[in-house]
Amino acid sequence: MKVLVNAGPWLEVPPAGYGGIENVVATLVPALRERGVHVVLASVGSSGLEVDELISAYDEGQFTELQKPYNQVMGIAHAHLARVAAELRRRDDIDLVHDHVEVVGPAVLSALGGPPVLHTLHWDLRKHPAFYGAFPPGIAVNGVSESQIARAPDALRAAALGSIHLATPLADPPADREPRVERGEHLMVMGRICALKGQHVAARICQKLGLPLVLAGPVSGRDTAAELDVVAQNPYHPLHSHPDVRYHLDQVAPYLDGDLVRWVGAVGGAERDDLYASARAALFPIQWDEPGGTAVVEAMALGVPPVGLRRGCLPELIDHGRTGFLADSEEELAEWVLRLDELDPEECRREARRRFTPLVMADRYVELYERLARH
Ligand code: UDP
Repeated sequence: MKVLVNAGPWLEVPPAGYGGIENVVATLVPALRERGVHVVLASVGSSGLEVDELISAYDEGQFTELQKPYNQVMGIAHAHLARVAAELRRRDDIDLVHDHVEVVGPAVLSALGGPPVLHTLHWDLRKHPAFYGAFPPGIAVNGVSESQIARAPDALRAAALGSIHLATPLADPPADREPRVERGEHLMVMGRICALKGQHVAARICQKLGLPLVLAGPVSGRDTAAELDVVAQNPYHPLHSHPDVRYHLDQVAPYLDGDLVRWVGAVGGAERDDLYASARAALFPIQWDEPGGTAVVEAMALGVPPVGLRRGCLPELIDHGRTGFLADSEEELAEWVLRLDELDPEECRREARRRFTPLVMADRYVELYERLARH
């Protein structure tokens, strides 16, 4: 089967550091190929992922262009889409398009009358009514958690072909991947620094309990404290009043004065894995209905128990009391943090190996492809 996987023009695959959708694609594609799927990846030229074919409209990721005016952003999106459309018109051997970008583009591709289109929903759907409120005809969709689908606008919920949980290569048999790092005392939040991820809640809890906390993640695409300083010091910088920048400066930075809470910027690759694996627990004080939770399954795969608020996909991923803890309030979250000794990190690894490996995810997608593909 030949599948055109559309990862969009915004970041290379795999991404150098942060990159939610691109990380998912980088996890899925090798497992699809292991199952014999021929993958044509639509991304940017600098993508390093091993694929059967790579097509692109841009040499480099266009992520920073997302700050530009709407028309320019749409121009980039359209140029990428036109490249994909040209490919589909040029050849007739593609069985299915698996889109990860947004829902309007795939509807246009579907209208070309080529192969069927499957779009995977990655976002919190209620937050993007412009894209998802009016669901376009012609495409199949799946979600990344039951909770995401349950909260979707009616038409979308009715059309969805179920959900497939996210996966991580870290969940693959860890025999040759025994923890390289000692477990430390610190707790960790791994994710974009933004109000939705709730780093300030983690900081408040850790300060109250006197526990060390490490925060890793970019602030609005800025990966280091030095880069962010440039934005923070210059009130005329276009990002100066960006909500994530304001959140960091106003709600997170005040906790960074003492010794307990550290922000290490964005981390990637082995550095990220080691930093994560050395944590005692991963905190998810999320302030939204997290749709997929890659960072949750990564923590489990590394034997780091996730402890989070009972929202979004978290109850589907975490078995409370066995593979992590779920809390209904900040106070309760703090109480569970004090009971981490009751959890067995090995149980987290086992669960990840059973449920969250790339092949588990790829097998579910191959099933869906087979249902949808034209033959
Ligand atoms: N991430 C990373 N470096 C960082 C912070 C996050 O590589 O400094 C990765 C993290 O490991 C995960 C992804 O970014 O793979 C975040 O995905 P998640 O689904 O948790 O959050 P979202 O897509 O909402 O940002």
